[in-house]
Formats: sequence, structure tokens, C-alpha cells
Amino acid sequence: MLNSLRTLVQEVNGADDLQVALDIIVQRVREIMHTQVCSIYLRTTEDNYQLMATQGLRPEAVGKVNLQSHEGLVGWVVARAEPINLENAAEHPRYEYFPETGEEKYQSFLGAPIIHHREVLGVLVIQQIESRKFDESEEAFLVTVSAQLAGVIAHAEATGALGSIGKESRQARFSGISGAGGVALGVGIVASPSADLHSVAQTTCKDPESEVEFLLGCMGKARNDIEHLAEHLKERLSAQEQVLFDAYLAILEDTMLIDEVSQRIRLGEGAAWAWSQVVLTHVSSFMSMNDAYLRERASDLRDLGRRVLGHLQQSAAKSRVYPENTILVGQELSASILAEVPQECLRGIISVQGSSNSHVAILARAMGIPTVMGAVDLPYKKMDQRQIVVDGYRGLVITDPTQELVEQYRNIAEEEKQLASGLEAITDLPCETLDHHRVALWVNTGLMVDVMRSLERGAEGVGLFRTEVPFLLRDRFPSEEEQRKIYREQLQAFHPNPVTMRTLDIGGDKSLPYFPIEEQNPFLGWRGIRVTLDHPEIFLSQVRAMLKAGEGLDNLRIMLPMISSIGELESAQVLIYRAFHELLEENYNITLPPIGVMVEVPAAVYQARELAARVDFLSVGSNDLTQYLLAVDRNNGRVAGIYESLHPAVLRALYEVVVQAHSQGTPVSICGELAGDPGAAMLLVGMGFDVLSMNATNLPKVKAALRSVSLDDIEELFLQVRDLPDAQSINNCVDAFLKEAGIYKLLRTAVTENVTVP
Ligand code: PEP
Ligand code: MG
Repeated sequence: MLNSLRTLVQEVNGADDLQVALDIIVQRVREIMHTQVCSIYLRTTEDNYQLMATQGLRPEAVGKVNLQSHEGLVGWVVARAEPINLENAAEHPRYEYFPETGEEKYQSFLGAPIIHHREVLGVLVIQQIESRKFDESEEAFLVTVSAQLAGVIAHAEATGALGSIGKESRQARFSGISGAGGVALGVGIVASPSADLHSVAQTTCKDPESEVEFLLGCMGKARNDIEHLAEHLKERLSAQEQVLFDAYLAILEDTMLIDEVSQRIRLGEGAAWAWSQVVLTHVSSFMSMNDAYLRERASDLRDLGRRVLGHLQQSAAKSRVYPENTILVGQELSASILAEVPQECLRGIISVQGSSNSHVAILARAMGIPTVMGAVDLPYKKMDQRQIVVDGYRGLVITDPTQELVEQYRNIAEEEKQLASGLEAITDLPCETLDHHRVALWVNTGLMVDVMRSLERGAEGVGLFRTEVPFLLRDRFPSEEEQRKIYREQLQAFHPNPVTMRTLDIGGDKSLPYFPIEEQNPFLGWRGIRVTLDHPEIFLSQVRAMLKAGEGLDNLRIMLPMISSIGELESAQVLIYRAFHELLEENYNITLPPIGVMVEVPAAVYQARELAARVDFLSVGSNDLTQYLLAVDRNNGRVAGIYESLHPAVLRALYEVVVQAHSQGTPVSICGELAGDPGAAMLLVGMGFDVLSMNATNLPKVKAALRSVSLDDIEELFLQVRDLPDAQSINNCVDAFLKEAGIYKLLRTAVTENVTVP
């Protein structure tokens, strides 16, 4: 049954539209479960469920039978949100007969709710003439099918496909998570990871004949690759093993395969899309065969499919033109994909996976590009060349927007521009509260563009330079001298203000293409200081580069990520001292910079006092600290709703760090994204943080907010919220405070909350 289920899900995912998907489901489930009827009812409005597909009931009833949760057995499944299994349906008090269906002759009934994110989207029903109770394994299978299909159906519902089966495309909205504030209007460009058959953009072509030529050319290149490979391995392989390559070449010469793809291209499809679809269909039919030899062919074909696709994408990338209002869309965007788009064209970003604390979102915020993360229901492959609105404030994507909506968003973009130029007026003013309490506002950087933006926006220092960013954008480790130059640029740009350089923090979701770390549980694995202590050669060359870069400037600070024990800190300190003394011996004129520790693991919260006693500063990494305290993956859109930055446990931990650091006379800063939220910034200053470090984009708003309140008031605000039981009450309390102070509009959530998107 597991195999049947897998094939069913594959088929459904490959269906072009919802109706085809539903028809496949009812047909296959009826076959697999050897029953006479299988039907699907789906929610069309608030409490209306419609028969959408059936095998066994009268086909003309499809689209005609509608019921509510208080009607009939299907309604009862909806109301209870549980499966119902009846031997004799007609005897049940909730039984109601819908004459259009012809269902009176079926006695047994098994209905399973289709639930997505706690909502009942529909009901999957099987029925049988003879009276019998479906057994437990049948019930379990139907529940499994429903659970698997819920995602597909939710997706179709979100895309508006339910209301528009067979109709032209129309405005549709998709919810995700805010990645970076701002609104953007533009044209979708789909970025696919190279040679991944499953994530190719659904493109069209204008000149089919030259597109077919292009395909044949790329197949030729793949053939050359294989011939070279065969030649290269000739000595080492037996004649029998070499036959493998012949099988590959035979696939490339298979005229049926070529014809099939060419036909799709002649109907207007782009070569990469047509190729990937044909290959995937054949792979899936080989996989479902019983013969082991034929199943093996599936992997040959998949491998070859990827090779040809790689060539198709490589050649297409060379000639790709980005429109001046590009909205970059992808399943899982990375820093290197971002770097491929000319900066002046990039208006917005949408990633199907990831969350607001994914690194791509952090980069987007630094660059000030409106971004939506975790748009899991977006049919991203279909977004190429589509008109799209990105509402980065609310985490909304709107495709094919109406003219009216476009106007509304244009006005918001205009208002935003005005607000930004209003904030420019305070660039050179200090960040101090109404009662003259001075707060240091620093920035987080990683790219050179951040430096420009930060200086323009009046940053007084760098609280976090993410040194892994230049590492991520290369194809090998940068040399000590290359690093020295990068660091020197940062230090000089901000001189005489301090620049806090974090030692390499890779692992987790930041893996270097040339140093892959593959783990079951990467956020709990080999990351940050754990990697660099295991590779002292990498750590030492980085620290040497930093120290050399700081020569004569005296504004370097070194910060260690992911420290979870005193032992790790001491080992890192030993290495820093060693690098320092080596350089003194090499006649560098340097001084030992302040050394600090990031508090981003719960263990470090409870050792804040001991850590603070041994270093020059502490800095809280609230992105990771929140993830570890709440046990919520910072990249997982599915749990983003419970990644609560103002959870009482998080606030309590932050306060504990401030108290312990200050007890040792050690200053404490915060460099997670929380510091860039004007509401949270009130609480952070109110609880005693000395420095807030944030992305440059948010700095003016935070400064404007802090300049409008007094320290007394925000200390009082912190005292008010610290005993509240949940994040919701804390957020409400902070919102009310901001409204009262007349600065609510500075919150990202406030900007577009009045735009209604149907
Ligand atoms: C953090 O975890 O809060 C932090 C600043 O580091 P990063 O986001 O780079 O993991
Ligand atoms: Mg971190």
C-alpha cells in the first residue's frame, strides 16, 4: 500500500490542474481499496462542501451536490473532524439522501476529513454496496491518503484554482512570512537550483524550431560528456561495465523521447520545462514497474535527464535578461542565487522555503529588498514572467493583481519613500530618549553594500560583521591576504567607530558550497565555533587576517559565535593569543582587540555571569537563542507562527543576560533581528541593553521610535510586560504603548494592514 500511496502522490503532484488531480485521486483510491465508490467533497465557501469528483456515484452530480457541516454524513465528518466508519449508513441518524448521486444502494460508508493547518478542507469518502465495516487498516489508509492530499488541495485552494477550474488566471493571494519589509511590484523570474528536474520553471517559447535545435544541441553536449567519461574510465572498467555507458547513449538517441519533448516544445513550451516533464514521467513509470532491471533504468534516465538539463540551464543563464523590476522567485533561494541578479534590477524576493530568520532574509533586509519567505502554497514554477506584488510587511504575495490593487500598493510605496526621506532628517542626530538617555545604535553587515547604507543612515558602529558572507560567495576558502583586504575595508569605512567581527559561523543553514556539511540535524550539529575549533588552521588564518587588518586603526573587536561552554571560549582565546603573538613576532604593530562572546545557546544564558567575567563584551544572538529556547526551527515556515520573538521565556532569558553581564561590569549588546523592531527595541532598552545592532534598513525607524519616548516610560513598559503570560498579550501591550506615543506607524505590520486583498 505504501508503494501505491507513493505513486498516487507522485501522479497527483504531476497533475496540471486541480480537477485532473481530484479525478486521479478518486480513480486510484477506488482501485487500491477495491471499493465501488470514491468521492471527494471540497470546501468552496465558509461552510459549504461540494462534490468535486467521484468514481461510482452519478458523474452528473459533480458540482451539483452541496452540503453544510450540519447536513448528512459528510457534514458529520466535517463537524467532528474525524473519520466515520459505518456498516449501515442509512440507519445512522445523520444519514441524508442526496437523490442526484444515486447513492442509496451503497450501505457501508467510510469518510475521512482532509485537514490542513487545523482546518477541514474537505472529505474523502469510500462506499460499498454490501454492508460491512471497513477494517482498521483500510481506515488508516484512507486517513493517510487524506493527510497527504491535504497539502495538494490547500495549495490549489490558495491559488484560487477551486473557484477557477477551467478559467483564465486571475488575482490570487498567497500567505508567507515577512522576510524584509517594504512593498514591490514587478515581474516574476524563477531561479532554479541547477539541474534539479523537480524545480524547473514552467516557461514558454516563442520560436519552437530554434528551441528544438537548442535542445538537440544540449543533448549533443551531454553525449560528449558521457563519451569522455567512458574514455576516461576505459582502463579501469570491464567490458561488461562499459555497457552501462552504451545504455546512456541509447537513451540519448531514443527518437521517441526526442519526439515527445519536441512535440511539447512545438506546442509552445520552453525546452527545459518540456524536457524535465517528459523525463520525470518516464522515470516515474520505470519506478512503478515490478521488474528490478527496469526500475534501475529509472536512475539512469534521471541522471541523464539532469545532465541535459544542466546544459539547457547553463546556456539559458548566459543569455538571461533580468527585467528592471525583477521579483526573484525560487523554492529555496540562497545568497549565491541572489548575487546572480544585477542589484539595480532586483525589486522583490519570494522564497517558498525558509523563514524570516533564514540568512537569505537577513541579507534581503540588509539590502532593503521587500521579501516574503515560506510562501509554501505558491506554485512557484508558474511564476516566470507573471505580474506580482510582494507585500513584505505582511508576508503576502499577490499574483496577477487587479489594477485597483496595483494602485493601492503604488501609493503605499510612495508613502514609504516619503517616510524614509522624513527619517533622513534625523540621520545626524544622536539616538537618545526624551530624557537624554543615550543608546548606541550599531549595524549588522556582511556585504559591502551594507557599509554604504549603514554610513548613510548614521550607524555608530558595527555590532556584527557576518564574516561568512564573503566566504559564501566564493568557490574556495579566501586566503589570509584576501580576507585581510575585506576586513580592512570594513574597518576603514567605519573608522574610528568600532567594528565587531564575528569569526566564521558556518553550519546550520549556512553551508559553503566547497565545504559541505551534511547532517541529520544541522542546527544542533557542527556549526559556528565547533567547526573552527576543530579546524584551527581556518580559525587562525581568519584571526590573523583580522588582526593584520586592524593595524593602526584600533577599532577591531572579535566575537565568537555559538559558544556553549567555558572550555570552548578558553580554547578560542588561546588561539587568538597565539595568532596575536605570532604577528607581534612578525613585527606587526598591533594591540589585542576586545574579545566577546555571542549568547545564542540557552546554556550560555545560564553561564552569562561566568562568560562575562572572562570577556570584554557579550552580544545576544536572539535569532538563534529564540530558535533554541522555543525549539522552533528558524527556517521552517510551518512552525513560523510559533517562533515568537516576544515570548515571555525569551524576554526572561534576555533580561537574565543583561543582569549577569552588568554584575561583572561587562557591557551587553544584542545583534539578532529583534533589535531592529521598533517595538522590541523599546523593551530591550527598557531592560538595560547597552547597544542595539540591527540591519541598516531598520535603523532610522528604531532611532525615530527611541527619540520619541523617555527611558522612564520604557522601563515602566518592560516592568508591565515582564509578568504577562504569553507573547500575544506582550505584543498587544507594546502596540498600545506605540499608539499612545504616536509612533505605531513605524511598525512594519502597521503599513499595509488596511489594504484588503480579496
Ligand atoms: C543570531 O543568531 O541572532 C545572530 C545574530 O546570528 P545569525 O543570524 O548569523 O545566526
Ligand atoms: Mg546566530
